[in-house]
Amino acid sequence: MPELRQDIVTGQWVVVAAERARRPTDFTRPPRPEAEDRATCPFCPGNELMTPLETLAVRPTGSEPNTPGWSVRVVPNKFPVFESGGPPVSGTALFPRRNAEGIHEVIIHSPDHDASLATLEPDQVELILRVYRQRYRAHRENPSIRYLHFIINHGRESGASREHSHSQLFGVPLVPPLVHQELAGASWHQTSRGECVFCRITSEEMDGVRRVVLRTKKYVVIAPFASRLPFELWVLPREHQESFDMVDDEQLEDLAHVMKDVLGRYREGFDDPPYNAYLHTSPCDGTEYPYYHWHFELIPKLTTPGGFEMGTSMWINVTTPEDASDFLSGRSQGAPGL
Ligand SMILES: [Zn+2]
Ligand SMILES: [Zn+2]
Ligand SMILES: [Zn+2]
Repeated sequence: MPELRQDIVTGQWVVVAAERARRPTDFTRPPRPEAEDRATCPFCPGNELMTPLETLAVRPTGSEPNTPGWSVRVVPNKFPVFESGGPPVSGTALFPRRNAEGIHEVIIHSPDHDASLATLEPDQVELILRVYRQRYRAHRENPSIRYLHFIINHGRESGASREHSHSQLFGVPLVPPLVHQELAGASWHQTSRGECVFCRITSEEMDGVRRVVLRTKKYVVIAPFASRLPFELWVLPREHQESFDMVDDEQLEDLAHVMKDVLGRYREGFDDPPYNAYLHTSPCDGTEYPYYHWHFELIPKLTTPGGFEMGTSMWINVTTPEDASDFLSGRSQGAPGL
C-alpha cells in the first residue's frame, strides 16, 4: 500500500509507492529502445485480461466487458499510486505519514497501438474527453478524494511506462501544492480586484496577440507570460468556468479540436516529442471555488531540469514565451532557443 510522507521542514508531501519499482537496479537499466510488441501490450485489443478488470468502456458494438470491440477503455492501474483499503499507517510529529488513500485509473485512448491525441480523429479525442468528464463525475463525491488529477505522459522520457496512448487519473486525498498555490492566487485576485485572474489574463492576451497560439469559439491557447519551460502552453476556456465537470457537449467538441491541433503542432515542430499534459480544475472537497478557472497545461519535454530547479523550485527557461508562440502559431520559422 503506497503512503504519503510529509517533510516536516518544508511541509511537502511525497507519495512513497515502492510497488512501482521493485529493485534499486530498475533505475540503472537503460530504457528499452525497441518498440513495444503489440502481442504483449496490455492496452491492445485482445489483451484485455492483462489489465485489471475494466471499470468503464465505450463499446459501440455492444461487445462483452473485457473483450475487444471498445473504443475507449478505463481500467484500474495495476500498480496504483493511490488506492483504498490498506491497513492504516500512523506517523509521528517528526515523521508524519498517512495512507495514500484514493484511486488511480488508466484511460486507454483507443485500440490503435500507434495512435496519439495528435493523430486520432477529433471524434475520438472528444470521446476521450467525455470519459474524463464521466470519471470526474463518478469520483467527485468520494469522501476520501479531495482532488482529481488527469494527466497524459506521452513518450517514455515524459514518464510514460507504456507507449500505447493513454491518460491517467489520480484521485488524491489532499489538494496538491501547485493547485493550492493557484487557488490562493486566484482567490486573492478575486477579493482585491473583483475579477477572475484567468479571465483577465485571457482577455489581455487576446488583445495583445503575441503570446496567443490559437483561438477558437470556446478556447484560447497561450504561451503563458512566465512559462516555466520552453513551449509550455495553457488551454483556457474563454468563458469563466471553475470546474471541468461543468463542460457541456459543445465545449467538449471544440476542446477535442484544440487539443488535437496544439499537440499536432508539438508533433510537427519537434518530431513527435515527449510531453506532459495535465488538467487543473477545482478540488472536489465539498468547497466551492467560484474564483478558479479550469485549464490544461501542456509542456513538451525538450530540456531536463537540473540542480537549480530541483534545489530552488525555480525554473530556467531558455525560450521566451513570445518566441515560442510565434513558432507554434506559424508566425516564425525555426524553433528558437533550442
Ligand atoms: Zn498497444
Ligand atoms: Zn475565469
Ligand atoms: Zn494551472
